[in-house]
Amino acid sequence: MDYVFFSVGSFEQHGPHLPYETDSLIADAVAKKVAKKIKAKVGGSIDVGVSTEHMDFPGTKTLSVGEFKKKITKTLDETPSAFFVNAHGGNNRVLDELRVPHVNLTRFFKPYDHAGEIETSIMLYINPRLVKKEGIRKHKFSWPDKPGWRMKDYSESGVLGDPTKADEKKGREYLQILVDKTIDTIRDGSIL
Ligand SMILES: [Zn+2]
Repeated sequence: MDYVFFSVGSFEQHGPHLPYETDSLIADAVAKKVAKKIKAKVGGSIDVGVSTEHMDFPGTKTLSVGEFKKKITKTLDETPSAFFVNAHGGNNRVLDELRVPHVNLTRFFKPYDHAGEIETSIMLYINPRLVKKEGIRKHKFSWPDKPGWRMKDYSESGVLGDPTKADEKKGREYLQILVDKTIDTIRDGSIL
């Protein structure tokens, strides 16, 4: 199957140091690298997702589950060979339910963080100018442990993880792992 890769992200608060577009930028970077490696095409990006758990943080945008589903199915109608590379955990369940070809990158690390070591490192590697270095500090948080969670109940600042451990070199490694695991998943045929 010759897939056309579409990135799927979100527009949501990522603490004091990362931009709202973080998930979308990470999904774009992975989609482009995967497409290049297996000589496939990149389609486009869906850069607002289902972010209801982050809506207590101003500036965050969300689609309803129905709106998000419509975007995905419309993309698939227009490009039947679409493959979705998703970097936002809030979109995982919807993509699973739709049973469309996709990977959920946030499942490749346990736990995958939110503006913590993983996301901050990748951003320092792919787009360092968008990282506010002076905003990098430790945060009080706990990992969400039940469905339907809200970020503000687990982290006042909106950060899950420790961004002070982030650096560019780790970012390159984390990104490579996401790319390799995506390609493995496609090759195994275990894309759903
Ligand atoms: Zn994120």
